[in-house]
Amino acid sequence: MSIFTKIINGEIPCYKICEDKDFIAFLDINPNAKGHTLCVPKEEISYIFDMDDAQYLKLMQFSKRVALALQQVVPCKRIGVAVVGLEVPHTHVHLIPISEMSEMTFQQKVQMTDEEFKELAAKVHQAFIALPSAN
Ligand code: 5GP
Repeated sequence: MSIFTKIINGEIPCYKICEDKDFIAFLDINPNAKGHTLCVPKEEISYIFDMDDAQYLKLMQFSKRVALALQQVVPCKRIGVAVVGLEVPHTHVHLIPISEMSEMTFQQKVQMTDEEFKELAAKVHQAFIALPSAN
């Protein structure tokens, strides 16, 4: 069982932004930049390109909405998108609020306190639930 399945099952805590029947988004515990978020399908599929088209497109739609919420809350130039999966073999989309290319390298990390994580997750959650319905 992956560490993300344990998070999905509530066995390990996370700074959750939102979830629906199929997906969950929570803050990365070792962020490249403030607001670095992971969008994860609840079904434990190791490799993103093993997903069927319908699930893959739904993951991207879900990630887009999380990105729209993130960019309202975290000052940045863009929300960078990455899929790596070398550390956790459970598909996830990294959404990273960036102003510099170095923030996409996974070499540079920012420290955040528990309080900062909680406050940020709550703000992005509020922005997410206030989004207009999908178009
Ligand atoms: P990847 O598999 O894409 O190479 O990287 C996995 C990502 O998951 C890393 O950015 C890492 O910081 C994050 N991560 C690993 N374990 C946990 C965890 O238990 N909780 C959270 N929130 N993030 C994690």
